[in-house]
Amino acid sequence: MLYWDQQEGLVMTAYTEPRFNNDDAARAYLEQTLWPDGTVCPHCGVVAHSYPTKRAGVYRCAEAACRKDFTVTMRTVMERSKIALHKWVLGFALYTASKKGFSAHQLHRTLGVTYRSAWFMAHRIRESMRDGGLEPIGGHGKIVEADETYFGKQENPVPSKQRQGRPYIHKGGGPAGKRAVISLVERGGRVRSFHPGVADASTVANIVRENIHHETRLHTNESKLYTRVGAEFAKHETINHSAKEYARGDVTTNSVEGYFSIFKRGMKGVYQHCKEKHLHRYLAEYDFRYNHRIVLGYNDGDRATLAVKNAAGKRLTYRGTH
Ligand SMILES: [Zn+2]
Repeated sequence: MLYWDQQEGLVMTAYTEPRFNNDDAARAYLEQTLWPDGTVCPHCGVVAHSYPTKRAGVYRCAEAACRKDFTVTMRTVMERSKIALHKWVLGFALYTASKKGFSAHQLHRTLGVTYRSAWFMAHRIRESMRDGGLEPIGGHGKIVEADETYFGKQENPVPSKQRQGRPYIHKGGGPAGKRAVISLVERGGRVRSFHPGVADASTVANIVRENIHHETRLHTNESKLYTRVGAEFAKHETINHSAKEYARGDVTTNSVEGYFSIFKRGMKGVYQHCKEKHLHRYLAEYDFRYNHRIVLGYNDGDRATLAVKNAAGKRLTYRGTH
């Protein structure tokens, strides 16, 4: 398959497996992935207690009190979609494999679905890449780097209460009226990113406090945003960027800055027109790929399968069928 990438030009992909090209094979893949122990009736929850109906992919619950019909995509982000299942499976593979992201426009041309369908698919796949309700990162003997960056224009700037309406000016040159992104990266591990309306000290402190284990060594730059909350951790060590210091022993924020650079390059190259209300979804997408990157032991196939598993129970209630 060929598709056009704005940065790389004509790209040939090797998605030749039947599940990317054939609807029955795609359904079999989704059933194996979402039902490893047999069918699960989404109405009553019974496992491996159903029989197939005459319609392909439709099962009837064998529980006497239920007897309802269901499919593998019910109660997933794919529910009620009219897009062929092999296109969904390919969509999951493309979004989880491409390091910089994949625009709805590329998806529209690659899959041969309407732009509108591609846009809905892209957001649903992104939703599947979102982690929810997570334990704090870091822990005893571990290092977490925290940093903030500014990206794109804010659509509705929120004045900080603490600053009495004066915008927060980032020391390193972070401009006011830009969208703030806060990321926490465990050294050699996972990332967790946020887009708060305003990056003032109390907002940043809450994010840091709620998402990092208190026995962690916290590494940040010299920003005052972290001073007070930093005292709640095993150790808070800072690097003085304004004095051109980038590492002192193992104290550095290079991991989180590396993450920001992947995110910004991708956003600039692929998602130029991201609405602010969707920014958290794009962050979830970049976080997901970073958290399942090759050095952590994941390959493209694992990543796609994980996102598909995550598609269950995450029905997005966008209006209409696509
Ligand atoms: Zn049932």
